[in-house]
Amino acid sequence: WIFEHYGWVIERAVHETKGWRPVVSFHSSSNVDRTSPDTSSTHQQQPDPPQIELTFPINARYRFDNFVVGEGNEFAFSAAQAVAESPGKTAFNPLVIYSGVGLGKTHLLQAIGYHCQTHATAGHIVFITAEKFISDYIGSIRRRDTSEFVATYRTADILLVDDIQFFLQTEGSQREFFHTFNTLFQNDKQIVLTSDCAPPNLKGFEPRLVSRFESGLVANIDAPDIETRIAILNNKAESRGTVLPEDVGRYIAERHATNVRELEGALTRILAFAELKREHLTAELVSRLFPHRIQDMGGDPNLSLSRIQETTADFFSLSIDQLAGSSRRQELTQARHVGMYLCKALTRSPLKSIGIQFGRKDHTTVINACRSVEKRIEMDSAFRELVRQLKARLVRQGVA
Ligand code: ADP
Ligand code: MG
Repeated sequence: WIFEHYGWVIERAVHETKGWRPVVSFHSSSNVDRTSPDTSSTHQQQPDPPQIELTFPINARYRFDNFVVGEGNEFAFSAAQAVAESPGKTAFNPLVIYSGVGLGKTHLLQAIGYHCQTHATAGHIVFITAEKFISDYIGSIRRRDTSEFVATYRTADILLVDDIQFFLQTEGSQREFFHTFNTLFQNDKQIVLTSDCAPPNLKGFEPRLVSRFESGLVANIDAPDIETRIAILNNKAESRGTVLPEDVGRYIAERHATNVRELEGALTRILAFAELKREHLTAELVSRLFPHRIQDMGGDPNLSLSRIQETTADFFSLSIDQLAGSSRRQELTQARHVGMYLCKALTRSPLKSIGIQFGRKDHTTVINACRSVEKRIEMDSAFRELVRQLKARLVRQGVA
């Protein structure tokens, strides 16, 4: 119980203050080897724990225990759990999870990584977006040294690749991915991929790669039904320390049918609004404030700002709260600055609105953020590539 409820809290606290991620396990005193000098609660249970290595941070926010299971995602959820428990040892290799946006692919993929990490079912865990894979690959070609790249990916015990549709038409990196895939597969290492469509519909992919993708288990996530949507809203409200009145949950769920991220966004706005107005959250209040779809409030400019913000958060595997918060952790400020920069670059919104969108910052903060991003783009080619990819994703989504 303590592990489930506090394990990740402790891990995150250490990560935030110390910059590295511990693996926390708890031992009841009767099981502890009393002759061992180290009986602290943060050591590994196994005598010889695998060294945990991560190339891309696993976000402890995405776990199996806070993923609400319903008819539409049950199959993908069960497969993900099976794979996380015995990576490389099930018939689900590779596991491909596909769905439309905002239905929990990244959540499940991260949860697999998190489970492997916390239960030490895999040593070398590699979580990566297809975009990062490509930019690492291009970087290694530029440096004329692919050995580090090859070592990182081909020695994974579990390789988690998010959004493979972005491999799109980059031949070199597809070839490299094909080899990585084969090496891992032949060595019984687990591969999990997510995609926005079924493998045969992936455009620009070599047929041999597509047939590899289909050789294990392909699991689809369908949009959640109304009961699942209500359960998700309750779950999210609870994790923010609020209880959602039943009719309010239903009201929101009825108006947001296709996308869990939107559902979350609507909840955030409603909670913020109720707090600002200092009014009790009732269905009557919500229907008065938001007679239509909640996203439609405020007209188009704000809509694009929140879309940019959501996509940026997703791209950096952060929550909206982290992105719009005021933590000065470097990875957070960097992502925040990039988000503000893209809002300025891609919309006509006034700086003031951008500042408000990013947690009530004033317009000088936005200007400074944009300057610092511009400067770094000039000096740092990897960073430039990252921003370019995110921008391309936004343009593809039709945000800008
Ligand atoms: P995708 O990668 O498919 O676009 P995400 O995994 O990023 O979608 O999900 C979007 C948001 O919705 C995340 O904040 C995620 O935690 C949440 N979410 C999606 N499905 C569920 C679910 N079944 N239970 C709880 N949260 C969910
Ligand atoms: Mg995703």
